[in-house]
Amino acid sequence: MPGVRRRALSLFAALVVALVVAGGLVRPVAAQGLVRDAGVEHALRQIAAPLLTAAGLPASRIQILLINDPTMNAFVVDSNHIFMHTGMLMRLSTAAEVQAVLAHEAAHIANGHIARRMTNMRSAALGSRLGLLLALAAGAAGAPGNAIMGIAAGTSGSAQRIFLSHTRGEESSADRSGVRYMAQAQVDPGAMLDVLDLFRGQEALAPGRQDPYLLSHPLTRDRLRGLRGFVAAQQGRQFSDNETVDYWFSRAKAVVGAFMQNPAVTLRNLRRDDTSDAALISRAVAYHRQSRTTQALDAIDTVIARRPNDPYLMDLRGQILLESRQYAGAVNAYAKAASLGPNEPLILAGYGRALLARDTPESNRQALGVLERAQAGDANDPGMLRDLAVAYAKAGNNGMASVATAERYAVLGRLRDAGVHARRAMGMVPRGSPGWLRAQDVLNMVEAAE
Ligand SMILES: [Zn+2]
Repeated sequence: MPGVRRRALSLFAALVVALVVAGGLVRPVAAQGLVRDAGVEHALRQIAAPLLTAAGLPASRIQILLINDPTMNAFVVDSNHIFMHTGMLMRLSTAAEVQAVLAHEAAHIANGHIARRMTNMRSAALGSRLGLLLALAAGAAGAPGNAIMGIAAGTSGSAQRIFLSHTRGEESSADRSGVRYMAQAQVDPGAMLDVLDLFRGQEALAPGRQDPYLLSHPLTRDRLRGLRGFVAAQQGRQFSDNETVDYWFSRAKAVVGAFMQNPAVTLRNLRRDDTSDAALISRAVAYHRQSRTTQALDAIDTVIARRPNDPYLMDLRGQILLESRQYAGAVNAYAKAASLGPNEPLILAGYGRALLARDTPESNRQALGVLERAQAGDANDPGMLRDLAVAYAKAGNNGMASVATAERYAVLGRLRDAGVHARRAMGMVPRGSPGWLRAQDVLNMVEAAE
């Protein structure tokens, strides 16, 4: 079954050109380049956990975040986040290949390759905010440069090369450690060579035509030779297949692929007799995007019947209903999802959004509580912060609405707007109150960047 799925998915990857940029009617909760989806992030946590453990890094601290970008890249800018492009995920054909990429990034963190860069920043406080990381991520993704990147790198212009790119020595050390983590986690380190094979021939291209991964992780002949040596040293060892990791890899790719690609292409590439969970999820999303809600619900409900306690399936059901304007049903689905995964901030964010869409005095009141819980769990979700501001405004609390708006701009890296709203908020909420302190926190960050 996994084999069938993989073949189908690599066909998808070839058709990623037909990319529909998220952010229109349907989106996997995407904002400013980041793809925030509870199920996808859970899948990435499952895939990453064995490598992070092998690297001696606390898996609970490190968040794997997807950037909506069709090119291949993965990088780190601080010790708490690993960024990967959707294009990378879609091009990789096995969970082990994703693990190879993550093992290499984890090695950059564990080996202290980040600390040197962070000291280049004018203020360490800047680095603690996702806003700056996102601005850097946007730079790495090839978006137009902006002031924040200039500050971070100490120069405007080729910020991503200066800030994100590693030295040959660091690459070699990350390769060596990454291979060791993989072996320790029972993952075949040969997958690391398979990943680098994807870039074969690109070294000869002009930098502008290479995948950004080659800029952040220079691939030299020496590096390849060294890596082959590290992998060969592991030969003869037995590596086990991890079905759980493979399963979640197929789910992550199903959701991301179906949201990114033309739904007709998604449906065409699925084999009629493929009734795996991943195939049904792909169909559900593709039908949903074609506004064929009944078929979408049939598909997702078939998977839910197999896995009734899976909060991420119920979360997807809620999203389908919400975006189909079936608000009462959406509220019920999200309520169920939230009870199955009580500590999933992204699920709570969806639940809050559905309650706001329901728009009754009772549901609006409930939404505020749910969204405050979502924020307590993950303050870096711009969609949630937008909804939270709406919920405060509906409750007549314009001061807190401004606080949430300031925080949303901070997360998005729009520091000027963040400053405007933070100042406004501080004039509206009681001095010294929790909201006032949060606004001050945003203002401090903005001023450190000025
Ligand atoms: Zn590297």
